[in-house]
Amino acid sequence: MADDIAVDVAIVGAGIGGAGIAAGIAGKLSCVILEQEDRPGYHSTGRSAAIFLQNYGNDVIRVLTRASRPIYDNRDETIFPSPLLTPRGSIFVTDKEGIPALHRLLQQSDDLREISVDEAVSRIPILNRDWVAGAAFEADTRDIDVAALHEGWLRKARAGGATVICRAPLTRAVRADGIWTIETPVARVKARTIVNAAGAWADPVAVACGVAPLNLQPFRRSMAVLPAPEGYDIRGWPMFDDARENWYCKPDGGRLFVSPAEEDPVDPHDAFADDMRLAEGLDRFQQAVTISVNRLERSWGGLRTFAPDRTPVVGHDRTADGFFWVAGQGGYGIQTGPALYALAARLLLGLAPAVDVEAVVPALSPNRFR
Ligand SMILES: Cc1cc2nc3c(=O)[nH]c(=O)nc-3n(C[C@H](O)[C@H](O)[C@H](O)COP(=O)(O)OP(=O)(O)OC[C@H]3O[C@@H](n4cnc5c(N)ncnc54)[C@H](O)[C@@H]3O)c2cc1C
Repeated sequence: MADDIAVDVAIVGAGIGGAGIAAGIAGKLSCVILEQEDRPGYHSTGRSAAIFLQNYGNDVIRVLTRASRPIYDNRDETIFPSPLLTPRGSIFVTDKEGIPALHRLLQQSDDLREISVDEAVSRIPILNRDWVAGAAFEADTRDIDVAALHEGWLRKARAGGATVICRAPLTRAVRADGIWTIETPVARVKARTIVNAAGAWADPVAVACGVAPLNLQPFRRSMAVLPAPEGYDIRGWPMFDDARENWYCKPDGGRLFVSPAEEDPVDPHDAFADDMRLAEGLDRFQQAVTISVNRLERSWGGLRTFAPDRTPVVGHDRTADGFFWVAGQGGYGIQTGPALYALAARLLLGLAPAVDVEAVVPALSPNRFR
């Protein structure tokens, strides 16, 4: 084993959360990122649908999404040479039974406007007119270049002196005299602060540090990749979602990504698609479209980890000196990332939160569960 590494901050997890925070503190606090896998981004970060959807999630999520938008738009071009967001648009559709759900969405959402079935079908020509009873359009939905965001933040962190150590699962950490001693199979790390950015494993990591868990729950979500329907140019299509979240479909790289949008509680693991859930979801999707859904190119699964109130957990734990949480980002950890991880970095640096997110700091605190 290498000699002890001594840093101000040890971040556990090199997903988007760990990378975003490391970029925010790099050059100001010394930092190491410990990643259990052989590469950063292997779990949820590498398996997302890569969508920025303003009208999604609870009020706190919407504040964080809104606050992230200018950071995406005014990106630092030395770190992110190409735009991180590109226009996509989204259409919510429903059959007769889902009309109340569509109306709820319209009431809750800015920038979402009701459109006719004709307009929906003109935008997505494979929609089944016999099924669609209502539709709404949001112009501002964007695709996120997740890999560029993640890699850019890691590059910025490294340029500021941070080190990323892969194949280095935190197995145990003990605090004495204001310093954590963190055990991994490849290095022993001494740090003033542990940042728990371990995604689906955030509760087990807390327990390994002697800190009480927060009842974070990973939920599996599956995704199928279908070939583009023959005879259609899908490049300009918006994503289209069932208003009751029974499925969603996103055109991506010349293919259709279709998810049954399931939320099945599971233990943290290397997730894969659930065949039965996929088949059920594709069957629901099939009713909404005129193409035959009979060839699946591949599939994948990922974990979306939520706190009991479905709001992320960001802040110092008052029950554990030097223990900071960045967890429970659920299905929004990319789109909210710029504001959320900048906030986490400011709290770690002892700075006041940015004004557009200061109101949600108490709602994010781990101490709401203590
Ligand atoms: C199918 C799907 C679609 C999604 N779509 C979107 C979307 O469109 N938009 C959006 O904003 N979000 C989306 N999300 C959610 C988003 O992917 C997550 O919120 C985000 O990736 C969480 O990032 P993270 O860094 O917390 O977790 P992860 O990326 O899982 O990173 C945590 C890291 O911690 C490491 N780790 C765990 N335990 C240890 C340990 N003991 N020691 C060292 N390392 C450890 C893991 O190996 C992992 O690399 C989606 C998620 C899924 C599954």
